[in-house]
Amino acid sequence: MALSAENRQTTLPGDDAPAMSLADVFRRSGVQLDSDQIDQLAAYRDLLFNANQTTNLTAVRDRPGIERRLILESLRLAPPLRALPMPGDSGRRSLIDLGTGGGLPGMVLAIACPEYSVFLLDATGKKVAFLDRVGQALGLRNTTTIHARAEEIGRQPRYRNGFDIVSARAVSTLPALLELGLPLLRQGGHLLLPKGSGIDDELAAGHRAATLLGGEIISADLLPDVGSTIETRLVIARKSSPTPATYPRRSGIPSQTPLGVVETTSAANCGRGAT
Ligand code: SAH
Repeated sequence: MALSAENRQTTLPGDDAPAMSLADVFRRSGVQLDSDQIDQLAAYRDLLFNANQTTNLTAVRDRPGIERRLILESLRLAPPLRALPMPGDSGRRSLIDLGTGGGLPGMVLAIACPEYSVFLLDATGKKVAFLDRVGQALGLRNTTTIHARAEEIGRQPRYRNGFDIVSARAVSTLPALLELGLPLLRQGGHLLLPKGSGIDDELAAGHRAATLLGGEIISADLLPDVGSTIETRLVIARKSSPTPATYPRRSGIPSQTPLGVVETTSAANCGRGAT
């Protein structure tokens, strides 16, 4: 079975729909925001737009795209996030966004959900430096950046089993995200993974991978259309037992050789043994 390397996102026919104001974006997300949060999201949009002119932070380059594809797509995760049961008695709620890039969805969730301590992880230094600047400019007190690979921190006692929620958007396939994310979760914690709509192969492999990693995929529902022009299935997985110490594997391996993928018979294998 071949899995695509990145999260596929399906563009809906309404992609050329009339422009939406930022106020519409906030209203459609279904999240209650006060005026400070609205100002912070607008400032973040502008910082991302401006920095992206000179530094490659996101492939979405226009302001309406940033508002709808990135900010609205991230904001709409706040209601399902808040609906999740928390692992018992874990104190302040914590979320780590793996491969956050320019801060998606992590920075948006940090602004919209101040009850969370949000850790923004990325392997690329210039992206982490941008997020540090955003945190300072917006006066955020609930964000911490981490410049590292998920495979590294997943083996460090300081981070392993340390978080209530792991999120990741457009980083890798489902089996790889499960291998990177489940070690970081407390038992009873959840992975929140927005994906494109065509993920049936990934889901089949993901179910098998989750079993090896001490997790279970509990839902993969299509989210209602809020005008973000993208079809999104939100995959939610739960850590139900400890992840074996062998995971995550070495840097790069979870994406290159994903768990749970059943190889179809290749031409080379057919030929082997034939006389
Ligand atoms: N989540 C963002 C960025 C997606 S691009 C968005 O939705 O726009 C993928 C990002 O993941 C890149 O910034 C890359 O540096 C980071 N990344 C990929 N693999 C990683 C890993 N194993 N550990 C940490 N960061 C990783």
